Amino acid sequence: MQDIHLLFPATPKGWQYQFVYKPIRNIYFRIYPDKKVIRISAPSRISKKAIKQAIAAKSAWLMQKLTAFDNASTPCNPLSAMRDSTSCMVWGRQLPVVRQVCNARPCICLTPESEIVIQAPAGFDPGKEDKLWNKWLRMLLNERIHILLEKWLPVMGVAPTQCRLKKMRTRWGSCNTVAKRIWINSVLVHRDPCLLEYVLVHELVHLLESRHSRRFYQILETYLPDWKAREGCLNQSH
Ligand SMILES: [Zn+2]
Repeated sequence: MQDIHLLFPATPKGWQYQFVYKPIRNIYFRIYPDKKVIRISAPSRISKKAIKQAIAAKSAWLMQKLTAFDNASTPCNPLSAMRDSTSCMVWGRQLPVVRQVCNARPCICLTPESEIVIQAPAGFDPGKEDKLWNKWLRMLLNERIHILLEKWLPVMGVAPTQCRLKKMRTRWGSCNTVAKRIWINSVLVHRDPCLLEYVLVHELVHLLESRHSRRFYQILETYLPDWKAREGCLNQSH
């Protein structure tokens, strides 16, 4: 296995290769920015020459991605940049994205190994891919919000009519106390789930006390004694 590593192009400082043979059909490249690891998995019966060719074909792309990770000031992945991206920030973790070409209906799923697999036909329309990512990330958020509402509504004795998602520039969440409608900023899917819980509970408290009064913070403190730490974390630039 050692000599396989000689085939790999030199990486920017700190990055490492991991190579594995697997019972698969194609060579896959995964980038784990957290660990600075490039993982290459190859079919068990593939020749060294084929590995060399695959790596040569990918090396410019690979170097470009690694340099971009090293220069990125924030690990957050805006949705518009998901096309051709090699990882996606989900619930505060940068997870590798594995692309598989398949002619079935395009889909995205999360594997038990915490890899995001996107299956789509070759030449999949970039606009459609953006929509697919959007839909998937919103589904993740809605699932978790549902669980959180089941946890908190009986405890707090409130009943919002709706809890909806919206991309917002300046706020993490908002609450229309008359319509009892809560809006949650959809970028929260990229952050630690305890931050989504904080934003949701904060907005639910508005159904009990509309203003940020002393009473508001007393209620918030009762339900989430560590809310200040969560708020501090939320407002850090990732
Ligand atoms: Zn508020």
